Amino acid sequence: MGPSALVPVAEARQRLIESLKPLATESISLMQAVGRVLAEDVTAHVTHPPADVSAMDGYAVRAADVATIPAQVTLVGESAAGHPWNGSVQPGQAVRIFTGAHVPKGADAVVIQEDTTASGTSITIQESSPAGRHIRPAAQDFKAGNVILRAPRKLTARDIGLAGAGNNAHLRVYRRPRIGVLSTGDEVAMPGEAISSHQIVSANGPAICAFVRARGGVDIHLGVVRDEATALRTALDRAEPLDMLVTSGGVSVGDRDLMKQALSTDDFALAFHKIAMRPGKPLLFGHLKGLPILGLPGNPVSAMVCAILFLGPALERLQGLPGAAPTLTPARLGADMKLNDSREDYVRATVTRAPDGSFIATPFPKQDSGIISTLAQSDALIVRPPQAPAAKAGDAVSILVLD
Ligand code: AMP
Ligand code: MG
Repeated sequence: MGPSALVPVAEARQRLIESLKPLATESISLMQAVGRVLAEDVTAHVTHPPADVSAMDGYAVRAADVATIPAQVTLVGESAAGHPWNGSVQPGQAVRIFTGAHVPKGADAVVIQEDTTASGTSITIQESSPAGRHIRPAAQDFKAGNVILRAPRKLTARDIGLAGAGNNAHLRVYRRPRIGVLSTGDEVAMPGEAISSHQIVSANGPAICAFVRARGGVDIHLGVVRDEATALRTALDRAEPLDMLVTSGGVSVGDRDLMKQALSTDDFALAFHKIAMRPGKPLLFGHLKGLPILGLPGNPVSAMVCAILFLGPALERLQGLPGAAPTLTPARLGADMKLNDSREDYVRATVTRAPDGSFIATPFPKQDSGIISTLAQSDALIVRPPQAPAAKAGDAVSILVLD
């Protein structure tokens, strides 16, 4: 393929997403469900609140009795959370009540404790309280049978609280995608291994595993393989069942780049190789006997930027979400930038806030895709479309905020 065959980023992502299907679903404990993707709507099995309850500590009264103040009422009982008072409040009577306690029959308002004085069972009310005041009516939140969460949805801690309040002990979610992570390169060793002077230590294996895990996948580290055409298949033969394989390195066109060689067989269907972006041009994607293989470039910055742009959406898609492009945020440039060429550019940048609250994104002066330290220090990537004209500090740009 010549340079004219570079696939635009959006098109490459679309091909990738369309080739992936959501995985099977499973029922799991609510307590394990945060971060998982809901596969089935959640219904409330209880009503919340189940009865009219007090929103304050004070006295449950009949509003008519306290319309004119000061008013005198007689204490006849107590209703605490979990311990309702089962009588009925008659004219001239009051019941001591606490937050979350059922409002007893007959009472239709709560007077807060601070607006009262008590002398034995004689209570003086100094503020009137119209009907309904300080009462949370039954079912004001949700009713049994209401749908309270809609699938698909990545479950937050807040969602877990809501599902729990609706008395759901288990939720149906998409299975976690099992992602094999394989680094390639004769020079690459794993952190902690004995290394010689011609070796480097893998950034990609640990980074991609961490990325997969942070986005709901199961990372299965398959280690580092040598630059030999057979090494990829040997590693795959040994691996447990996978939903997708992610490799790093060996996707360029050098003699020692094994990926193209290893995969130039009838059982591999190439979807694309080489995309119009920087960093990350040699990205490769296809299916080996049905197994999706995403071949990331070896340069650590390229590998991670491609993970953000392609692996992230792929993980979402496998978990039943649409797999949309990462969200872009408007910002202003903190420094001048040159005219862009025909590739979409992802530029490492720090982000500060202007006095008006807008984001100011300042690119690192050196953008070599081998510099891992600035990737870790970046707050965002400035996204520059192909052929973006030269821009001045203060000009509008789009940024992809990093987490
Ligand atoms: P390649 O795409 O295999 O030619 O690799 C491009 C560059 O990335 C080379 O400088 C490699 O040494 C480097 N590289 C490859 N794999 C890794 C890795 N796992 N961690 C860090 N750097 C790597
Ligand atoms: Mg290599």
